[in-house]
Amino acid sequence: MSNRTFTMIKPDATSKGYTGGILDQIVQAGFTIRAMKWTRLTAEQAGRFYAVHSERPFYGELVNFMSSGPIVAAILEKDNAVADFRQLIGATNPAQAAEGTIRKKYAASVGENAVHGSDSDENAAIEGSFFFSGLEIF
Ligand code: ATP
Ligand code: MG
Repeated sequence: MSNRTFTMIKPDATSKGYTGGILDQIVQAGFTIRAMKWTRLTAEQAGRFYAVHSERPFYGELVNFMSSGPIVAAILEKDNAVADFRQLIGATNPAQAAEGTIRKKYAASVGENAVHGSDSDENAAIEGSFFFSGLEIF
């Protein structure tokens, strides 16, 4: 089991001023920030990041949305990080997300759902290296 996961605060949440509230909830839940940056994905980069979904009907919409404004990318550390972070963010569709989760509080829809969380240790490592070099992780 790895103790790291990767997250993004998505363009819907950064544009609505939710960045501080989301980061506070992440830190209060016991995650330590190991790397972080404010940046914006090109459509090509968003397409590569979510390439696993390229056959899904919502792929074009997802790529447009994820490149529509700034995001915050971060590597987080905690025991059982991947599973605990998925629990903290809640279900993909905020209508089904548990009370108190980040998506329940901050997400508007299944497409614009405020945060990303890695779904496995392997993907957490791949996604972290997509954004950060070893020199940027502390
Ligand atoms: P993420 O990978 O962003 O953490 P997730 O793992 O909960 O989300 P995935 O199934 O990996 O959900 O879908 C990736 C992203 O694609 C979702 O977070 C959402 O932004 C978008 N998405 C998923 N399903 C739909 C849908 N039915 N309609 C529109 N967008 C969707
Ligand atoms: Mg996913």
